[in-house]
Amino acid sequence: MGYDLERFVGYVNEDLLCCVCRDVLERPLQAPCEHAYCSACISSWLVHHHSCPEDRLPLDVGSLKPLYRYMRNDLNRLQIRCVNAGQGCEVVCTLESLHTHEDECEFAFISCSNTGCPVQVERRGLEAHLSECNFRSRECPNGCGHTLLSTDQSQHNCVAELRTEVEMLRAEMLCKVEEVRREMESRLDSQRRHMVQKESQLKNEVEELKGQLSRVMCDMRALLGAERLRRQELAEAELEKRELLELLKDLQPTRSQHPVEQAAKDQHQGAQQTPGWELHTKPTRHQQREASLHASSLSLHSAQAITVSGPPPSPQLGEGARKGGTRSLTLDCIKRKSREVTVI
Ligand SMILES: [Zn+2]
Ligand SMILES: [Zn+2]
Ligand SMILES: [Zn+2]
Ligand SMILES: [Zn+2]
Ligand SMILES: [Zn+2]
Repeated sequence: MGYDLERFVGYVNEDLLCCVCRDVLERPLQAPCEHAYCSACISSWLVHHHSCPEDRLPLDVGSLKPLYRYMRNDLNRLQIRCVNAGQGCEVVCTLESLHTHEDECEFAFISCSNTGCPVQVERRGLEAHLSECNFRSRECPNGCGHTLLSTDQSQHNCVAELRTEVEMLRAEMLCKVEEVRREMESRLDSQRRHMVQKESQLKNEVEELKGQLSRVMCDMRALLGAERLRRQELAEAELEKRELLELLKDLQPTRSQHPVEQAAKDQHQGAQQTPGWELHTKPTRHQQREASLHASSLSLHSAQAITVSGPPPSPQLGEGARKGGTRSLTLDCIKRKSREVTVI
């Protein structure tokens, strides 16, 4: 929509008129056919047409261009009256500076700046309106801190207002306290549940450990019993070993005495008796001791058999052979015993 031709002072070239609205061009655009239009006019024209409204030549939005510079200058230099001339504004300015003037024209109608006030006043009368506007606000003169609108200033009661505010704050606080209480309770609940769970878990673990402990105690008792037994056996074996060693010590001197004894006997009794018989009696004692030891500790049948045999009326040669066998058997026993002791 262009500017009303009536508002212009002086002659306006026909080329500066819009081909659609026939008013003076406002934000002009030019077609390739050199016809010019207001931007709004040609845009709405081209919605339904595809040609120049003047000469019907084909036209689309894309082919529109800005007005020639000389035409734009002519247009900008045109003298126009203020849009508020009806209200009393007598300003006449160039079309170029029209918007600047209208933005600050004293006769322009503007809205009251107080929120909620529907009044529209001329810019020059705004101050007068603000001083008596019903929507103006100011702080309570009694110092309650409330901002009052001029309309409800007469009904304002500081105490009642403050009381209401306190009530509101109290309600808000109670709400918050309740919220916090509920949150704490739920947190405590969850912690309690967790503790109960943990407690039962620990109880189970304690029970398990108790079981393990009793098993270990059982094992330990068994081991202690076994150890006592072993110690006893060891002491017994030690005793036997000592006895056997003594026996061995006794045996060795006897063996070394044999030839001497034999010689002495030969001198005393002559060759009537064989030295074998003399030898026979002494070792037999040893033999008996050894055998009794065997019987007590090992219960060897062979050893028993030997013990039973005693001094036999058999020939001396046989007796000597048997004696030799017994001695070797005794040595075997000693060896075995000492081995047992070592093992223990
Ligand atoms: Zn127009
Ligand atoms: Zn045209
Ligand atoms: Zn004006
Ligand atoms: Zn107002
Ligand atoms: Zn007040």
